[in-house]
Amino acid sequence: MTKPMAITAAGAVALAALGYFFVAAPIVDRRLNQVAEQPPYDVADSVAALHEELLVADLHNDLLLWGRDPLERHDYGHTDLPRLVAGGVGLQVFAAVTDVPSGRSYAGTGDGVDQIPFLVAAQRWPLRTWTSRFQRALYQARKLQQAANQSDRIGLLRTQRDLETHLMRRVDQPDRLGALLAVEGLHALDGDLANLDRLVDAGYRMMSPTHLHDNAVGGSSTGLRKGGLTDFGRRVVERMTERRVLIDLAHASDAVIEEVLAMTDRLVVVSHTGVDATCPSPRNLSDAQIRAVAAQGGVIGIGLWPRATCGETAAATARAMRHVADLVGVEHVALGSDFDGTVDVPFDATGLPLLTAALLEEGFSRSDIRQILGGNVIRLLRQTLPV
Ligand SMILES: [Zn+2]
Repeated sequence: MTKPMAITAAGAVALAALGYFFVAAPIVDRRLNQVAEQPPYDVADSVAALHEELLVADLHNDLLLWGRDPLERHDYGHTDLPRLVAGGVGLQVFAAVTDVPSGRSYAGTGDGVDQIPFLVAAQRWPLRTWTSRFQRALYQARKLQQAANQSDRIGLLRTQRDLETHLMRRVDQPDRLGALLAVEGLHALDGDLANLDRLVDAGYRMMSPTHLHDNAVGGSSTGLRKGGLTDFGRRVVERMTERRVLIDLAHASDAVIEEVLAMTDRLVVVSHTGVDATCPSPRNLSDAQIRAVAAQGGVIGIGLWPRATCGETAAATARAMRHVADLVGVEHVALGSDFDGTVDVPFDATGLPLLTAALLEEGFSRSDIRQILGGNVIRLLRQTLPV
């Protein structure tokens, strides 16, 4: 009698937990990915006309972490395919997040309890993703691949040819989205260098050594020690160079940025960041770092979230873009929104014309804006994607 009772009680607890999680996951998503202003977003007709001509390329988006179907339109979170294309986005980098330590802070994030297992359990991801960061990355790649299989409006960009095909098809199909896979933090390797090749084979083309905390590859800008590359990290960077993976220095410690730039002649990217000059923060780039990245032909994606820009509107993002352009040239400036990256942003993806308006206010020319919001990223990918 006691045994079935125990099973029943355990079952009830499990059911309650599952019920909690099914309800909780969308609530967490809704709470962590908010906008300051709800749509619709109004801009002058002339701005709307200019924005319509653009192919917006965005260097950072964390949509794949969430339970939202990427192909369906939602009234919460920041992005999905319908809202991205409505905002003029023609090329989106989707990053896989695989570890978020509890107690994270810009002042110093340690190895707190990883929050991702709770989220992936709540979203019914396969069991193998509950314990393996590498499997979480593979799963997110599969999710994007499935969306691309279901819709001819998403094209996965793995090679230069994929990119050219996408750009050509977009002439007749302006609501087509080119999607590039990135990894945010190479704890996603689970400590095994061979997993880097597996991630490349799964379609990943951009990787950042670290994310919120120091890992086995190197130091994070918000880690506790903020050290340089480890021995394993140096092998990882060598392998990324050999496999033509675009190295993303967002979230890297000062030491990692310096060491990576010294190790490789290849173009690098800082996918989503702010700059110290307009918003001092350990997470943001100093002028010396901006110069070093630009000297190597790199592109810097400026974010939309307040802790990157020290403002709550597109004007703050435009100000940081103006600083980078004045310092090293407009050809090094791009957008790295961090949409759906557990940040509050001024607007969802449909509000991107507000950024075009803010760039015009900053005195950028139409051709500057074309470069900043798309052209520079396309040039970077043309030069770095595998043949
Ligand atoms: Zn990030």
